[in-house]
Amino acid sequence: MSRPTIVLVYQRLSLPWVFEGARRAGIDIVLIPRRDEEIDPARLPEAVVEVLRLDLSDRTAALAELRRRHREAPFDGITTLCDPEVPFVAEVAEALGLPGIGSGTAQAAQDKRVMRERLAAAGLNVPGFVRLDGPDSETDASALTFPVVVKPARGFSSLGVVRVDRPGDLSDALAEVRRICRTNLGRAEDLIVEEYLDGPEYAVESLAYRGEVRVLSIGYKGEPTGPYFEETVYRAPAALPEATVDAIEREVVAAHAAIGLTDGPAHTELRLREGKRPFLLEMGARVGGSGVSHHIVAGAVGADLAADALRIAVGREPERTTTVAAGAAANYIVPCGGSGRITAIHGLDELRDHPSVDHLVQILHPGDVVRPYPDFTGYPAFVLSTHRSTAEAEQFHRHLDESIRIDYAPEGAES
Ligand code: ADP
Ligand code: CA
Ligand code: CA
Ligand code: CA
Repeated sequence: MSRPTIVLVYQRLSLPWVFEGARRAGIDIVLIPRRDEEIDPARLPEAVVEVLRLDLSDRTAALAELRRRHREAPFDGITTLCDPEVPFVAEVAEALGLPGIGSGTAQAAQDKRVMRERLAAAGLNVPGFVRLDGPDSETDASALTFPVVVKPARGFSSLGVVRVDRPGDLSDALAEVRRICRTNLGRAEDLIVEEYLDGPEYAVESLAYRGEVRVLSIGYKGEPTGPYFEETVYRAPAALPEATVDAIEREVVAAHAAIGLTDGPAHTELRLREGKRPFLLEMGARVGGSGVSHHIVAGAVGADLAADALRIAVGREPERTTTVAAGAAANYIVPCGGSGRITAIHGLDELRDHPSVDHLVQILHPGDVVRPYPDFTGYPAFVLSTHRSTAEAEQFHRHLDESIRIDYAPEGAES
């Protein structure tokens, strides 16, 4: 068998899991970098054999260019971990006859209105919701029980996701979310309004192959109550009673069927109403968190999610090999804890040599300007760790809560 080649869309080099997975799977990567990412050809990950600069904002031109490239030097698959690009990748795969999830499924996984309709049609747990199609549509939310959550139909990173407590506040919230969509997502957006799901949040990592879904891990994601929903922690495996684990697995497997996802990875987020009934928030047809999900699964159960997801994307069978796992894995997202120009970040550098820390991904640095939600500028850093147990991970996170602090000067002040 010759070495397969995969086109990988928009993966940052600072997030290494999928590059390492490709090396383990023996798959070569043609990387389409993000437009803002500078690449030093001398420091490419081993698996990357080519860097292909391509402007994906013009989808027709990008598809034509990929078609030309495929004719000249065929590749075996195309994939991305970047949620907004999942439908385009599915479309390219369809057009070039490569393995893929199909553009219908990609749409259903990305558009929260379509997802809710599909889940409801399949009889799964869905909160009351109304869809708002078009930039000016008004909504009749009188059938919904407040509080509700307003969100962009195809948003990500909780951008523009807002809790609204009273019917009288809804139209102001809609205007705010539309403004956020225009400035941050660069487009007027379709929206969804849905009932607020009270309860702790969980993320589920799964891998499907030929219609068979394997749930790899269920992790705790905190209990954010809004009005804006910053990401905070992720710790797996979650300490849950067996009956609840079963209920979550059933719901997630059924959701795969409802949206038609038969092959490849999924990152599913859900909340447990009354602490036990799983209601999906959303499902992403990709390895989650730009690869963080691989770290979680590897640390919690020893599965090689990144390598197997890539194998499936080039039309091979997943190998389902496992290594001895640490027992628990975690991601801690450093909270902004304020806003303005960063003058100092305390408590991060000393983590680089910490025995539990596998990766420290620092995104913001002194000099950068932070705006909090709703005008979100991004998270300062992620701390990825592994532990013997989830309880130890929790203890480590409490330590980080105490030890990491960011100092700010007011925005506009001289640094
Ligand atoms: P995004 O694609 O922006 O991540 P999500 O649907 O995942 O959108 O929403 C982001 C976060 O907002 C969720 O992780 C959750 O904390 C919160 N959220 C979204 N919808 C609801 C809901 N119906 N009830 C309670 N919280 C919600
Ligand atoms: Ca999403
Ligand atoms: Ca989400
Ligand atoms: Ca989330």
